[in-house]
Amino acid sequence: MTDDVRSLIIIGSGPSGYTAAIYAARANLNPLVFEGSVTAGGALMNTTDVENFPGFPDGIMGPALMDNLRAQAERFGAELVADDVTSCDLTGDIKTVQLADGSTYRAHAVVLAMGSGYRKLGIEGEDALSGHGVSWCATCDGFFFRGKDIAVVGGGDSAVEEALFLTRFADKVTLIHRRDELRASKIMAERAMANDKLDFAWNSAVDEIHGEGILEGVTLRDTVTGEARRLDISGLFIAIGHDPRSELLVGQVDLDDEGYVLTQPGSTATNLRGVFAAGDLVDHTYRQAITAAGTGCQAALDAERFLADIE
Ligand code: FAD
Repeated sequence: MTDDVRSLIIIGSGPSGYTAAIYAARANLNPLVFEGSVTAGGALMNTTDVENFPGFPDGIMGPALMDNLRAQAERFGAELVADDVTSCDLTGDIKTVQLADGSTYRAHAVVLAMGSGYRKLGIEGEDALSGHGVSWCATCDGFFFRGKDIAVVGGGDSAVEEALFLTRFADKVTLIHRRDELRASKIMAERAMANDKLDFAWNSAVDEIHGEGILEGVTLRDTVTGEARRLDISGLFIAIGHDPRSELLVGQVDLDDEGYVLTQPGSTATNLRGVFAAGDLVDHTYRQAITAAGTGCQAALDAERFLADIE
């Protein structure tokens, strides 16, 4: 174990973690940031153009945006470690976090910014065509599909909401669902049925994704008859849910039924003194880079005030 107790440890390196790091570093808190071993930079490392992050009138590639945030955090003295936190004890006044090799780090305050993972279909081509027709975010990418035929996979409220939103851009949106009726609330389902740009592929699962470098279509399998058919589309939006990365926190930090970290109203404070949370780890609703960055800023400011109070 290192002897020194740091002021602040930040776990996570998406827009929320790096923004917290920028603010904390500029407040002279010398934050130590665990970025994760494989996915340092967070969700935007897997996408191409980001056109809705303010300040980039021509858009910016996701990895370039994250490189900029990382460099900005480093410039002010944040210490960045590309490793995973594998366990932690956040309950006492001194918080400890541990890495897979057993090394342990201590701090008075911790910002949790581990994000959430979009559930995947788990089929070939899904990752390779992410940002090239395959997407997990209608708000982010809908605009790229003006006048195109596209599809949404899922049957819950968010899938229907995404599908309805996408009808503003696309010529036709096919909602692909494993069952013969939607899981979405009655009102959402009624709205979907009434929209003449929306088509339904009932009892259907996506078996294959087609396209070299750009999505061209999918093969759908009928979940009742087993029959396969091809659907030509240039966009596939996968809306089958998210999993907040909160496994580390179970039994310590209060989580809701779906595993999102609960924070106090109007604050990023969790149930534990000195532990703050930001970004998609907390956020059911917006899940945008700018909102993650915004709450990352809030978490750093909350941590800074907490540290000033205990001095
Ligand atoms: P994330 O970006 O998910 O970052 C969290 C990071 O924490 C992880 O990547 C990992 O590196 C790290 N981590 C997790 N667990 C640990 C651990 N135990 N130890 C150490 N590190 C850990 N939003 C937009 O605003 N515009 C867009 O155009 C846009 N496009 C998108 C395209 C795709 C393909 C995807 C998937 C998302 C897109 N989004 C977009 C959404 C946006 O990326 C997220 O809302 C945002 O990245 C959330 O930021 P975050 O910091 O909360 O978490």
